[in-house]
Amino acid sequence: MAGKRDDFTEKTKRILGYRAGNRCSNPHCRVPTHGPSNEGPDKINNIGNAAHITAAAPGPGARRYNRALKPEQRRSITNGIWLCTSCATLIDNDDKTYTVALLNEWKKKAEDQAKREQGKKLPGEHDAINTLVAAASGQTAVFLPNLMSNASKATSGYLEGLDQRFIVETSFHKGITHHIIHPKDPVDVKFKIKSDFSREFGSKYKALVEQGKKLVIDSSAVELRGSALLEKIAEDCEGTFELHSLLKKDAVIRTWLVSPDEKSKVNFYDLPGSAVAGTKSMTATSRALGGLLSMGISFSVDNFLTPIGG
Ligand SMILES: [Zn+2]
Repeated sequence: MAGKRDDFTEKTKRILGYRAGNRCSNPHCRVPTHGPSNEGPDKINNIGNAAHITAAAPGPGARRYNRALKPEQRRSITNGIWLCTSCATLIDNDDKTYTVALLNEWKKKAEDQAKREQGKKLPGEHDAINTLVAAASGQTAVFLPNLMSNASKATSGYLEGLDQRFIVETSFHKGITHHIIHPKDPVDVKFKIKSDFSREFGSKYKALVEQGKKLVIDSSAVELRGSALLEKIAEDCEGTFELHSLLKKDAVIRTWLVSPDEKSKVNFYDLPGSAVAGTKSMTATSRALGGLLSMGISFSVDNFLTPIGG
């Protein structure tokens, strides 16, 4: 009988497919194997295969061939497994990985799963995204427009939970998360400047106190203590640490065109901006026309006027 293949009957193949729910039995695959073919209203496209667990015939390409089996055992449904075309090729190129025991285990799992799923609704195409939306927004309905605002609320709520002395506003803009943190009452927070940055911080702090100039330093320079919230933000964020003068006010720099004899004077442009004050000087800065015009004027305490740019 050598060379004769013990093939499955068409009925055996069909039953193997149905018992696996017409899906590949490889637990890592499970693709549906049947669909319609556009060749005709009665045509199907089947990418499933009734594969032999132990080979249908001996020979060079045979895998897991068992000479002890009788032909009727070899073509019996118990020697078959329903697989998609690519998984059928996979198991017929490697009998070290895909052993008889493993294939019997796949078959059992696939039939158990088909039994559990029978009559139940399969996940829809949008179910995964709906689940994600529900998890992020707390809403079960598909309502994406609220997703970002709910994520902001959730982030603020989490951060406020770290230190209830603060109100946190969170917003997303151009890919950057902004947190604005307002203390409800005066809060005693200590920050320590790491020694590598002490010289840079020293000169910038002096400019803040004396001229009201905004202090900007890399956030890795600063260690915050006294609030779990601020410590968390300092630890998780890369960016800058800023200190602003409380004496900052909106200001307008008004410019004039004056004739050489000073007889005629025309208002040239009003540049909206801001003014900050320190203990030794006050600085007004403005930008207009998309940055084409910018101006800064610094007034020292003895009324000496020093333009700092234009
Ligand atoms: Zn497969």
